[in-house]
Amino acid sequence: KLKDVALIATSAFTVYTIAKKIYQSIQKKQIEKKKLIDLIGNTHLIYLESLSKLTGCEIYAKCEFMNPGGSIKDRTCKQIILDAIKDGELSKEKKFIYEGTSGSTGISLTQLGNSMGFQTKIFLPDDLAQEKYLILETMKAILVKVKPCSIVDSQHYCKLAENQAEVDGAFFSDQFENLSNFKVHYNSTAKEIYTQTHGQIDIFVSGSGTGGTIAGVSRYIKSKKPQVKVILADPQGSSLRNKVNYGICYTGEEAEGHRLKHPFDTITEGIGLNRQTDNFNEAQIDKAFLVTDEEALEMAHFLIQNEGLFLGSSSAVNACAAVKSARLYGKGKTIVTIFCDSGMRYLSKFYNPQYLESKGRQYTPKDYSKEFNLD
Ligand code: PMP
Repeated sequence: KLKDVALIATSAFTVYTIAKKIYQSIQKKQIEKKKLIDLIGNTHLIYLESLSKLTGCEIYAKCEFMNPGGSIKDRTCKQIILDAIKDGELSKEKKFIYEGTSGSTGISLTQLGNSMGFQTKIFLPDDLAQEKYLILETMKAILVKVKPCSIVDSQHYCKLAENQAEVDGAFFSDQFENLSNFKVHYNSTAKEIYTQTHGQIDIFVSGSGTGGTIAGVSRYIKSKKPQVKVILADPQGSSLRNKVNYGICYTGEEAEGHRLKHPFDTITEGIGLNRQTDNFNEAQIDKAFLVTDEEALEMAHFLIQNEGLFLGSSSAVNACAAVKSARLYGKGKTIVTIFCDSGMRYLSKFYNPQYLESKGRQYTPKDYSKEFNLD
């Protein structure tokens, strides 16, 4: 009897197993329904063999150009929009986003805004790389081009965006002062870097535009590993390095007096400032390096030739400061920096010999497999 029961049970189990297998095989696998917003972040960390060999350190870069909007600003815009929706500042009824931006943020805001039913109005200087206007116009952002002036001037594009948003009752996303910016780098960029390096990071290097990236990453990484050095990569014309290295930051009339203007006398875009933003104030920085335009140009072309990476100017500035950090702190260190966006948006300026000539900058193509000098 017991034998029969065992036989029935075994047969029943066999039938159940076969039926389950057949059911699973005919059942359609669910495809993940990811939208644009879901593709932001979780970027790769690339090992830069050429720079590592040159310095005796391990140098890595976070590939932020792989975000769907093409830059690190995707992360900031995602957080700003999500927080604004939560706070009721953006909704089906309130769908205008105003921002003052030199390009990347405008592109990320517009792309993400379009995917979520919001309309952007972007205030920006009229001397940016042509590609940025074309992209924004094609993506149906409303553009307001203004004469470049100091960030402390009442006619600065950020101030105009803020004032107009108030008049129109629109949401001013305020990337410079909005701490959603710092928060997203603390919660995503920094955590990804720490996980990807298994906590073995010694030095983090980044430029500062709004300050969101360097603030968020420095605060998180130092909370995990206080001995990590955080280095600011500062382009010529910016005064942030004076604040970091000597505690001086010119603001207001002082900035005018010192002629620390925007646009600075630099051909790089996206980083450097002559005032401290609320986001920058959250940063914990150990040291700042000046990177000249000439150094950035050399590095950009070096990375094209040796790593196959075609990058924007702020990424080149970051890479220069990574090499300078390696030289200061010595061999064997693990250094992580940020590659903010791709070179595609800079063909008419940073990568254009005529433009460089008009700005009194020189770049002579070289064979970087034979030489590379960085002061
Ligand atoms: N690179 C580029 C091209 C940028 O547009 C920006 C932002 N202005 C940055 C770097 C710097 O990022 P953050 O604003 O987080 O300091």
